[in-house]
Amino acid sequence: MKTFEDLSRVGGRPSLDFVNTEGGHRNGPPEWLESYGDVVGWSASVGLLEADEVSDLLMEASAKPEEANRVFDRAIELREGLFRVLRSVREGREPAAGDLAVLDGELSAALVRLRLAPDGDRFEWRFVGGERALDRMLWPIVRDAADLLSSDVLERIEECDGDNCTWLFVDTSRNHSRRWCKMGDCGNRAKARRYYQRHKQSTRRTP
Ligand SMILES: [Zn+2]
Repeated sequence: MKTFEDLSRVGGRPSLDFVNTEGGHRNGPPEWLESYGDVVGWSASVGLLEADEVSDLLMEASAKPEEANRVFDRAIELREGLFRVLRSVREGREPAAGDLAVLDGELSAALVRLRLAPDGDRFEWRFVGGERALDRMLWPIVRDAADLLSSDVLERIEECDGDNCTWLFVDTSRNHSRRWCKMGDCGNRAKARRYYQRHKQSTRRTP
């Protein structure tokens, strides 16, 4: 199975990290999720699935490859729909009805699995049952997306300023000044470009 150690988690929320599995360059490589197994592997790498759940799901998927492929298609549809909704929010546009319908559809599938479970002297929301449901990793993702979209954190979501980089993250900096997904990556590239342009201008001015 593909490992996801090299994929940075800059989003600050599981649903944003899921959106960022597209490699940072929408409509171009690298695409991290190319199969149902990749969706399982990524979900395990961010703690949405336990090791025993991974082996159960992969076994189930090999017994039901068509169903696994459908879940893979749904995962990508959810990811891209969520990306477009978040982008439209950032740009002050109305989200497309079709994209909201995708989120709503996945949310309905997830919410029927939610129960109140005792947790010490209080309760917590927990997904129950469906141990072999191939789409179980989508439940916490879409729930996190719905929480995000209905919270004040939404105003803090930024898209990286890097060329062609579409990674999203929650800007937790005090003065709301974070511009890059990773300073050491897109930030450095932009710095190098500015340096190059300044250098080019100054050499042009030299007689
Ligand atoms: Zn970036």
